[in-house]
Amino acid sequence: MRYENYINGQWIEPSLGGYVDNLNPHNQKALDQFPASTPEDINLATAAAKEAFTTWSKLSYQQRGEYLLKAADFLSEKVEDIARDLTSEEGKTLPEAIGETNRAIRVLHYYSGEATQSVGDIIPSVNPKTMIYTKRVPIGPVGLITPWNFPIAIPAWKIAPALVYGNTVVIKPSEFTPKSAYHLIDALHQAGVPAGVVNCVFGVGGDIGAELVDSPDIKAISFTGSNKIGNVIKQRATILGKSVQLEMGGKNPLIVLNDANIDKAVAFSIQDGFMSTGQKCTAASRLIVEAGIYDEFCRRLLDQTNSLKVGNPLDEGTYMGPVVSARQYESVLTMIEQGKKEARLLAGGNEINTPDLKEGFYVQPTVFEVDSQSVEIARKEIFGPVVMLLKVNSFDEAVELANDTSYGLSAAIFTNNLTLSQRFVDEVEAGMVHVNSGTVGTEFQAPFGGMKSSSDGPREQGKTSIDFYTKMKTVYMD
Ligand code: ADP
Repeated sequence: MRYENYINGQWIEPSLGGYVDNLNPHNQKALDQFPASTPEDINLATAAAKEAFTTWSKLSYQQRGEYLLKAADFLSEKVEDIARDLTSEEGKTLPEAIGETNRAIRVLHYYSGEATQSVGDIIPSVNPKTMIYTKRVPIGPVGLITPWNFPIAIPAWKIAPALVYGNTVVIKPSEFTPKSAYHLIDALHQAGVPAGVVNCVFGVGGDIGAELVDSPDIKAISFTGSNKIGNVIKQRATILGKSVQLEMGGKNPLIVLNDANIDKAVAFSIQDGFMSTGQKCTAASRLIVEAGIYDEFCRRLLDQTNSLKVGNPLDEGTYMGPVVSARQYESVLTMIEQGKKEARLLAGGNEINTPDLKEGFYVQPTVFEVDSQSVEIARKEIFGPVVMLLKVNSFDEAVELANDTSYGLSAAIFTNNLTLSQRFVDEVEAGMVHVNSGTVGTEFQAPFGGMKSSSDGPREQGKTSIDFYTKMKTVYMD
C-alpha cells in the first residue's frame, strides 16, 4: 500500500510524486511505499504549521491536552496491529514493539495531564503592590527529526509536549521506519487535531532535513539520531539563532564490582546489550568487571549469550531480531571485523546465514574481551549486538574507564556497597545513572538526556520538556 505525507490536515502526494519501498529487515521484502519527499513538501508543511500556530497557541493547555487523550484512545484500539507493523519495519521483537506502542500511549496521557499542572511561579516583589510571576509561551512551529530505533515512542515524546505547550509541528520520521510514525500521525488526525497543527513529511534525511532546519518558519529543532548529523544540525541552527535539543550517541558503561549480585548483573548485561539487537542509545556496551568476580561473570555471560534465540522478531520466543537496515548491517559487521583485529572474540562475531534467516540482516550476539580502551571498538558507538568486557582491579579504575569516553548518556553500577554507589553517582560523567539496574530503562515522567557529546540543549521528557518547548516571560504586575 502507498502512504502520503500529512500536510495541513490532509494526506497528500509528495510534490514530485516519488515513493520508496519500506523494507522488512527480516527478509528485505517491501512492506509498503512511502513518499520520497523533496524540499517543496517541507515548505508546504512549514507554511501550514506557521499558519496554524496563531490559533493553536491561543487555546488553553487543557483544550490542547484533550486532543492527546483522544489520539491515545485511537492508538489503544490497535496496539497489536501497530506493534506488528513496528516489528516488521524495525526488527525488534513483538513484545518489545507492544511495550513501545503502549509507552507512546502513556506519553500522550502524561502530557495531557501536564496540561493541568502549574506552569509558573509567583515571586515576592519589594513593592507590596506588585506581583511578579512567570509565564510560559510557546516557541512557534518546531521541527522534529526522529530516528528508527524507537519509531513511535520518540515521535510521541517530542510531539506531545510540543503540542500541549502550544507549538505546532513538522516532523520528519526516519526513512527506515515510516509506518510506526504514520500510526501516531493518523491517531492525531482521527482525534481531530486542527489542520496544520501537526504535519508529517516522509523522506530521506539528506534530501529534506536541511530544508526543515533552515526554514524561517521553524523556530526550534528537536533531533534524535547520530552525532554526525546532530552536529551538522547544531551548527546550522546556531547560525540561524534557533534553539536545539539533540539526543545522540552513547558508549554506556556497566560496572560490576566484586560484591555485586551476579545473577542480576549478568541478566541486565544481556538485556541491555542485546535486546532490540543492541540498537538503543542507552545500550550497555562496555561491561567493566572487577577481577574477583570476572571469571564467573564471564562464564555466565557467555553461556547466556550463546543460548539467545535469534530469529524472526514476529515469532514467539525470539529474543533478538535483525538489525534495521543494510547500512546498519554493513556498519555493525565492519566494526566486528575491526574487533577481531584488536580484541579477543569470546562469542558470536558473524552474520547469520541459516536458510530461514539468510535474506535478513542478522548478526550473532557478540562479546569481545579488550585489554585497553584505546581500541576502536571500545571508543566508537557500534549500535548493534556487540558488547565488550574489561577487567579492572578496583572501583577507582572502573570509574576512570567508565569516564574515558567522549559520550556521557547512561551508566550503571552493580554493588551492595552504599559508599561506593554514592561515589559512583557523584563521579560518573553520565546524564542517567543507575545503581543495581542496567543502563537501559528510562521512564517518561523523568528527564532524559546525557552529558558530554551525547546530548545538547534542554532535557527531553518529564516536566523538564517545558524548558525546550516554551520561552519564559517574567511579568511585573502593579
Ligand atoms: P540513524 O543512524 O539513527 O538513522 P541519523 O542521524 O542518520 O541516525 O538519522 C536520524 C534522523 O536524522 C533521521 O530521521 C534521518 O533521516 C535524519 N537525517 C539524516 N541526515 C540528515 C540531515 N542532513 N539533516 C537533517 N536530518 C537528517
